[in-house]
Amino acid sequence: MNTKSFEFRTVPLIRVEWGGSARLAEILAETFAQRNILIVTDPGLVKAGLIEPIVANLRANGYSVALFNDVVADPPEDVVLAAVEYGRQHKPGVVVGLGGGSTLDVAKLLAVLLASEQKITDIYGIGKVQGTRLPLVQIPTTAGTGSEVTNISIITTGAATKLVVVAPQLYADLVLLDAQLTLGLPRIATAATGIDAMVHAIEAYTSKFKKNPISDALAREALRIMTANLLIACEDGQNRAAREALLLGATLAGQAFANSPVAAVHALAYPLGSHYHVAHGLSNALMLGPVLRFNSTAAAHQYAELADVIGVPGQGNAQKRADDFVKAMEVLMSESGSPRRLRDVGVLEDSLDMLADEAMKQTRLLVNNPIDLQRSDALAIYREAY
Ligand SMILES: [Zn+2]
Repeated sequence: MNTKSFEFRTVPLIRVEWGGSARLAEILAETFAQRNILIVTDPGLVKAGLIEPIVANLRANGYSVALFNDVVADPPEDVVLAAVEYGRQHKPGVVVGLGGGSTLDVAKLLAVLLASEQKITDIYGIGKVQGTRLPLVQIPTTAGTGSEVTNISIITTGAATKLVVVAPQLYADLVLLDAQLTLGLPRIATAATGIDAMVHAIEAYTSKFKKNPISDALAREALRIMTANLLIACEDGQNRAAREALLLGATLAGQAFANSPVAAVHALAYPLGSHYHVAHGLSNALMLGPVLRFNSTAAAHQYAELADVIGVPGQGNAQKRADDFVKAMEVLMSESGSPRRLRDVGVLEDSLDMLADEAMKQTRLLVNNPIDLQRSDALAIYREAY
């Protein structure tokens, strides 16, 4: 069969180096002439002592460093505006995002807005960013969102509303994968963020329109190494090989879904974050099983392929193997220790209707699902997850 034409975009440079952030000055000097850095991070990482040695290394090597450490989860617009205000005072040459997905999302917008006359309200949507941005380096401290290699930022703009910025300018110049930074992640965070990355791989692999041979290859390898290492990292957070595999897998999955977008698991997960402040990874972990079952006939062929990729034992026709795959993912989620039901995270049963209404607004994501999903389907899936 001839290959359908497609395009694939990603960041130009990924450096994988255990402990690499401790010699960030040298790594930056290989790529950038600028010596004034603005690091974007969150207060938890500062408190945990992760940031101080990185700043010390930079300063010891002649860099001037400003630190914006006010990022919070599901970052509100105000946080981005405060970061821009701070950035205008310090006039950095390079923006470095150092943290989880929320931090990396803020760093992307900061690099754009500091180099632009555009206001944040001008750039919400797809392809609205004009011109260039400041040089941008992304260093993830969780193995999950893949935000370090995507062209998307998600910003909270109201009590329960979020807007996206999608633009090629959001691809970073340099991504540093230093898995040593992920050693301190507690078990539940390791499980939830890891499952989020697996969802990225699965949804990219079954994405209806933009799935392509490169995103497929990345998604398969991401899922393979993450399923093989998730429980090891959950049991023994200090296991270097498992931490490295999860971080690499999350980045591969990020590259896959930046080009072949995610679908119904994310569409149904987002309202849990907006209305109940359930963390993104955990929201996806809660919706994964029921959505996989809903999709398992339409996506039988692809799920059967993924069963082989992750080495699910057994044989049979495509539907049997697809069902085996769904079961294997559910067993993995149970063993990871991540909460499994909506009621476990404080969701109220009488809000399921409202959640179904909210999920149906995620048309950007729902169009990518392998099978059409109606409001009644969304409600049934939430009931199953409850
Ligand atoms: Zn996700």
